[in-house]
Amino acid sequence: KKVIFSGIQPTGKPTLGNYLGAIKHWTSMQNEYDSIFCVVDMHAITVQQDPAELMKNTFNLLALYIACRLDPDKSTLFVQSHVPAHAELTWVLNTISYVGELSRMHQFKGKSQKHKENINMALMDYPVLMASDILLYKTNLVPVGQDQKQHIEICRNLAERFNSRYGQTFVVPEVYINKLGAKIYSLANPTEKMSKSDENEFAFVSMFDEPELIVKKFKRAVTDSGSEIAASKDKPGITNLLNIYSLFTNRTVKESEKHFAGAGYGKFKVEVADTVVEALKPIQAEQKRIAGDVAYMIKVLKEGAQKASAAAAKTLEEVYKKIGFITDV
Ligand code: ATP
Ligand code: MG
Repeated sequence: KKVIFSGIQPTGKPTLGNYLGAIKHWTSMQNEYDSIFCVVDMHAITVQQDPAELMKNTFNLLALYIACRLDPDKSTLFVQSHVPAHAELTWVLNTISYVGELSRMHQFKGKSQKHKENINMALMDYPVLMASDILLYKTNLVPVGQDQKQHIEICRNLAERFNSRYGQTFVVPEVYINKLGAKIYSLANPTEKMSKSDENEFAFVSMFDEPELIVKKFKRAVTDSGSEIAASKDKPGITNLLNIYSLFTNRTVKESEKHFAGAGYGKFKVEVADTVVEALKPIQAEQKRIAGDVAYMIKVLKEGAQKASAAAAKTLEEVYKKIGFITDV
């Protein structure tokens, strides 16, 4: 079986973008692949987090994974900081990562711009930690949203660089970006990606939002001039809403356009909102139930960490041997 690895940061509340761009695809891939899904808390702290919130977000995200039918008996579900090999491999990969290439990453530039007071080393090192996440498990395929493409490219470069310097060690992974849901846009600024750490709460719909709030957010979503409900380059707001609606109803965008032919923006937005509310209801109920069962989540995390640690330790030992570290003591 081929291996897939992916993760989400416990920074704030997961959004429709995280669901449609990532989790939803993982769920359907887990039967076919040897699947590893991580809550990447070490990535989260590259931006300042409130400790109590971080812990709550970590449990809530794990509960969401399971509520979305990621099955701990089929897939390895774990928290990044529970497997120290991620940090250990990062140190090694840092020695073959160049400051120049890391400083050119879109995400680093974007987050540095947003957090001018805290442009820390780890923020720049994010892609190297992410490469470690992926390479430790000899991952073949990394299912992510469009925004992570550049980071997978760096990961591939680091794998190739290490292999050519020290001999064949890492599998060079492929990126997997499903066209459906690859990029969900902000409701407040529909040319920017929807992000859970957006300071404007009306820019995103969270998987945990109450029905009334979801309706409010869609009603307030920025739309475009004109009145036709059609997907096009000059209508990024309407296109984004049509896309979200289509993904939740398993329609093509064309079918959705037909469905809304002649409707006004107001009616359209309300129907999109109602559709999302209904789709999220069962997931939210299940997420709440699981999040209330801390003993169960701890059990899942223990088993996940054990499985992941065993695989990761093997790769790390191989790496240490290759670079000339003494391993047999
Ligand atoms: P943050 O703002 O803290 O970076 P985020 O919403 O970007 O949060 P991440 O944890 O960085 O979430 O990303 C987790 C996964 O979700 C990645 O695979 C990423 O590509 C995907 N993803 C994030 N936002 C979107 C989006 N708007 N559309 C599609 N996929 C997305
Ligand atoms: Mg992100």
